Amino acid sequence: MSETMKIPQATAKRLPLYYRFLKNLHSSGKQRVSSAELSEAVKVDSATIRRDFSYFGALGKKGYGYNVNYLLGFFRKTLDQDELTKVALIGVGNLGTAFLNYNFLKNNNTKIALAFDVDSDKVGTKIGDVPVYHLDDLEKHLLEEQISVSILTVPSSVAQPITDRLVKSNVKGILNFTPARLNVPGSIRVHHIDLAVELQSLIYFLKNYPGTDVNE
Ligand code: ATP
Repeated sequence: MSETMKIPQATAKRLPLYYRFLKNLHSSGKQRVSSAELSEAVKVDSATIRRDFSYFGALGKKGYGYNVNYLLGFFRKTLDQDELTKVALIGVGNLGTAFLNYNFLKNNNTKIALAFDVDSDKVGTKIGDVPVYHLDDLEKHLLEEQISVSILTVPSSVAQPITDRLVKSNVKGILNFTPARLNVPGSIRVHHIDLAVELQSLIYFLKNYPGTDVNE
């Protein structure tokens, strides 16, 4: 934390830019990068990059450049501190669309960042500012964006196979709006919100236990 506070704001603003580029480098297997390469990719002059990186304790070596793993580790630690939790939504139907438009805007550390569907009319569009991708590309985007929470608003018949894919892609929490009961490993948390059941149960209680103090 105190480390972060010493970084000038202008430098801090460039962190996500560096971070995104380094993540790509890392996933393509690159282990080092020169300030000239970085400069070209992120369009920041190399003197500024060298100064920025000196704040991170990353001293590039002539002819070697910077260690990609070290920088990535630093960025992850620094950016995660007040980073918002990005959530994926699967199934852009009526309910899913409503969530995308609502998008928890009052809650400034949670945001639906990406959505998935199989309907070609929806794939490739944006709802609010959330891009809708094809389900075929689920794993790729989840890993790239490091998504650990997903909302499920698909038809219940496809909820389990999609859940299995989410689990394999490192998703740790699922907010399940489908009526399906999901099987997941013990380390995965599922919160189930079946709106129809909730409504029916409320009506049932009103009819059968009128006037009962439910908080007893
Ligand atoms: P809702 O149930 O949210 O009111 P709806 O009645 O408009 O939606 P559903 O049939 O429940 O439509 O489907 C919800 C969304 O899930 C649709 O946009 C549909 O295209 C999408 N969908 C269907 N199958 C899949 C799948 N295998 N993967 C991802 N999305 C899917």
